[in-house]
Amino acid sequence: MIPIKSERDLQGLRVSGKLLAKIMRSLQLFIRPGVSTGQINVLAEELILKEKALPAFKGYNGFPAAICTSVNEEIVHGIPGDRALEDGDIIGVDLGINYGGYFADAAFTLALGKIKPEVQRLIEVTRQALEEGIREARPENKLYTISHNIQSHVEKNGFSVVRQFVGHGIGFKLHEEPEIPNFGESNSGPAIKTGMVFAIEPMVNMGTWESRILDNGWTAVTKDGFPSAHFEHTVAVTGQGPEILTL
Ligand code: MG
Repeated sequence: MIPIKSERDLQGLRVSGKLLAKIMRSLQLFIRPGVSTGQINVLAEELILKEKALPAFKGYNGFPAAICTSVNEEIVHGIPGDRALEDGDIIGVDLGINYGGYFADAAFTLALGKIKPEVQRLIEVTRQALEEGIREARPENKLYTISHNIQSHVEKNGFSVVRQFVGHGIGFKLHEEPEIPNFGESNSGPAIKTGMVFAIEPMVNMGTWESRILDNGWTAVTKDGFPSAHFEHTVAVTGQGPEILTL
């Protein structure tokens, strides 16, 4: 069963989403060469707690931090630590909060200093793929039209979509039904209905789509060592179409 949110729930989710967006902006301003991923995590947790929210990732299946920080060839679920960011790195930051029982989840990828044009293009295409997917989050559509749009935009641009990790329903919990792959057949899958809320999150690799997990049991990296980018928004389906809650 895909949970349907009432108008009252959507109001709660809007507040949570806005809060998350505000925290993301603060993190984006803080991230620069020399800053460690651990420092970004400390700031994120401070900001989340200051807003009387809870970091939804911390302790989730034993995850040890408030946010995920994934650098260069790391796809998702990077664990913040001592690694200092350098000019030419890209970093994906993924964070989720629980505000009054309403969950929001979002991610962005940021370039530090001067990066290769092809890596810049990877980031741009991933951001566009998220938009292409969100556009189809409207009543009467089938769910995998979102997946298909993401995949076709990415592959048309010569990159690949990660298969091992997917987007998801969200709202009363961090992860709810349905799973939302970043690949699939257009016009297939469950019918999208007003009141559904989705975390749509393309993970895009420059080279092969294949990934592996590091020995820490969490961090997913590309099998070929080429970079990967990640963007995510929490999106509500309304009668008027998609409403991005984490803007
Ligand atoms: Mg997510």
